[in-house]
Amino acid sequence: MFKVNENYLKLPGSYLFSTIGKKVAAFSEANPDKSIIRLGIGDVTQPLVPAIIDSLHKAVDEMAHAETFHGYAPDLGYEFLRSAMAKNDYQARGCDIAADEVFISDGAKCDSGNIQEIFSIDNKIAVCDPVYPVYVDTNVMAGRTGVYDPTKETWSDVIYMPCTKATNFAPELPKETPDIIYLCFPNNPTGSTITKAQLQEWVDYANKVGAVIIYDAAYEAYISEDDVPHTIYECEGARTCAIELRSFSKNAGFTGVRLGATIIPKDVKCGDVTLHSLWARRHGTKYNGAPYIVQRAGEAVYSEEGKAQLKAQIAYYMNNAKVISQGLKDAGYTVSGGVNAPYIWLKTPDNMTSWEFFDYLLENANVVGTPGSGFGPSGEGYFRLTAFGSYENTVAAIERIKKM
Ligand code: PLP
Repeated sequence: MFKVNENYLKLPGSYLFSTIGKKVAAFSEANPDKSIIRLGIGDVTQPLVPAIIDSLHKAVDEMAHAETFHGYAPDLGYEFLRSAMAKNDYQARGCDIAADEVFISDGAKCDSGNIQEIFSIDNKIAVCDPVYPVYVDTNVMAGRTGVYDPTKETWSDVIYMPCTKATNFAPELPKETPDIIYLCFPNNPTGSTITKAQLQEWVDYANKVGAVIIYDAAYEAYISEDDVPHTIYECEGARTCAIELRSFSKNAGFTGVRLGATIIPKDVKCGDVTLHSLWARRHGTKYNGAPYIVQRAGEAVYSEEGKAQLKAQIAYYMNNAKVISQGLKDAGYTVSGGVNAPYIWLKTPDNMTSWEFFDYLLENANVVGTPGSGFGPSGEGYFRLTAFGSYENTVAAIERIKKM
């Protein structure tokens, strides 16, 4: 008889967004006349910009002729996209990243989940609390996290780094030494960022203790303040300790198109072994490349028209963020985030738990958000709203919340 991977059975409860989905579906069924506004999950709502659509059309037409047809993409990505990313995202910022250190993929969720498999099972991970759930859950599936404590909602072999109001929602260096450190800035869910000087401390720490940092930069495009780093490679020494994850989902609306990248400098080594070689091997064995037409669409993100159009799209979402932040403040809520990130993190009122506030908001304003506790124990008592809705819905949601 076959046996299943028992690590999967250790995963507690259902995934956060499926619980939300069920609650919203039940409410909708019981209240068919109510119009629900969703400011919960982090999906975008605005269409792909014209420069990207043009590039997609052109690539589709190429696929219609034998001379310009493209079959399997190179495992690691087309040169044109790897070069565009290296040049625009890194070299233009003075960071030493070469095109062959960019691995193209179908998104940061897969990469952030898959990257752990090139590390030994006895490595210890450190994560922020609250945190994007994929980092922990994929390590649970791999059997790296020990025993789950349902009361504390923590794993025995995971180092948690609380990100609370006291630290401006930034993690502090852990007391216990980790092997793999997951950082994500601008942060999902709190919308917080850290300065370049703070990130430099993490890079110095990782190099000192021999840890690797997995730096999730999925929300880089939302940074508006000067002292916030756009990539970890702005920090000195990051080439020897950091992997960076990039996504086209939030900067260019590719959530349904699917494109991302992982950057692994050739200097991140364990003895003589480069992580670059292991990830190349993993990609070559398990992945057949992101589609040609999608990579051409990704290339358009870096064209002059693409850049200008996307700047306007980000500004649209960040205007929503402002509407949410200001509206909530006017209504007496304590809020953070929303300045360099499309996420607004609010303290639940009257000592309500995150889920109590979820129900309260759904029932009284018919607005859906995300309970902070779903991202980790330190998220309890907080709630996440996203700026990814339409302007009209965002304004309507805030008006309803103000009236609550
Ligand atoms: N990383 C973080 C922190 C995210 O919040 C998300 C999506 O919400 C992702 C990665 C996933 O990105 P992608 O759509 O590229 O898979």
